[in-house]
Amino acid sequence: MVRLMSTTTPWVEVYEDLHRHPELSFDEHRTAGIVADALRDFGFEVETGVGRTGVVGVIRNGDGPTVLVRADMDALPVTEQTGLPYSSSVEGVAHACGHDLHVTCLLAACEELAASRSTWSGTLLAVFQPAEELIVGARAMLDDGLYERYGRPVVVLGQHVAPLPAGVIGLHTGPAFAAVDGLSITLHGTGGHGSSPHTTVDPVVMAASTVMRLQTVVSREVNPKDMAVVTVGRLSAGTKSNIIPPVATMDVSVRTYDEAVRSRVLGAIERIVNGEAASAGAPRDPEIRHLERCDAVVNDGDACEATRPALASTGALVIDPGSVAGSEDVGLFATEADCPCVYWLLGGADPSHFEGLSTVREFGEKVATLPSNHSPAFAPVPEPTITLGTAALVAAARHWLPVG
Ligand code: ZN
Ligand code: ZN
Repeated sequence: MVRLMSTTTPWVEVYEDLHRHPELSFDEHRTAGIVADALRDFGFEVETGVGRTGVVGVIRNGDGPTVLVRADMDALPVTEQTGLPYSSSVEGVAHACGHDLHVTCLLAACEELAASRSTWSGTLLAVFQPAEELIVGARAMLDDGLYERYGRPVVVLGQHVAPLPAGVIGLHTGPAFAAVDGLSITLHGTGGHGSSPHTTVDPVVMAASTVMRLQTVVSREVNPKDMAVVTVGRLSAGTKSNIIPPVATMDVSVRTYDEAVRSRVLGAIERIVNGEAASAGAPRDPEIRHLERCDAVVNDGDACEATRPALASTGALVIDPGSVAGSEDVGLFATEADCPCVYWLLGGADPSHFEGLSTVREFGEKVATLPSNHSPAFAPVPEPTITLGTAALVAAARHWLPVG
């Protein structure tokens, strides 16, 4: 594994400042201001307020393709428990997913690419996206005319920090992040006195039975070689022990990598919810609302192979980490442009955690013990992560921008 010098650079200060001042989805005003000011200083044409709080920086540098490099900016409603000296100063909000690191690396990469513009040609489109955590920010920027204003890119590049060791980059060809569907389900019963269940249709029992039956979707209906997750993350009904309530509600999260598997799972959920309601004698059909929907991030095989040497040229060890069950909306920028996506994981865990380990299995077991993204204790090491993340973005972008 590579060991890069740990130094405090101006970019570490920028990172610590962003980390101290996290902003929730679509509230990234301070962050967007810092991004816009820096991009203007580097000589970018800058537009703010794209997709509400998004920022676009562009350098039109002669003939050549448009290359989109993306970072997300939002933080999470999490109370930070890292104990870091630069911990969040905002109660109940923290950069627990590392988007502050993504912003820092992309800004540093923009500075470097702007300074070296005599050595490449084409159009560099730096996209600082809001509201990734709600899986709606990419859509908001596209609906606000991102490509009508700046043209379609030939490739979408980006990275997400992960608890792999700093010095390691994870690049997986094919489905890299899962599709997500968030469903909100309302089951209707007939309420009444807890002492007279025979006069009611109890939605609590209906919900309990539905939750249990939903467990069979993955275990009995999905081919064992395919991946699917069905999680009932919220279940609610009633106010008091002696009242049978009229409704029960639940929220369900579905993750899949494959479109056919996705529609089979969604179809099975609908069938089970309707079936359990019918079987209970529900007075009204249940309602299923699709609250959240995002396709899988599918990394293009040829584009990944073409970019891999550029990533390796940074000195990073480039590994295949497999697919991640989390979700991301970066893929939408590529789907909408009908161009390949190359999205990699950037190791951010302190390399000292991995000393003395040699096998892939040992590494995997160690990664599983470290605080993951969204944990209150998630704390990537600023260096060498920022230096390497910057170098990776620069090298990948330069691969796609022809020598000027
Ligand atoms: Zn996240
Ligand atoms: Zn994230």
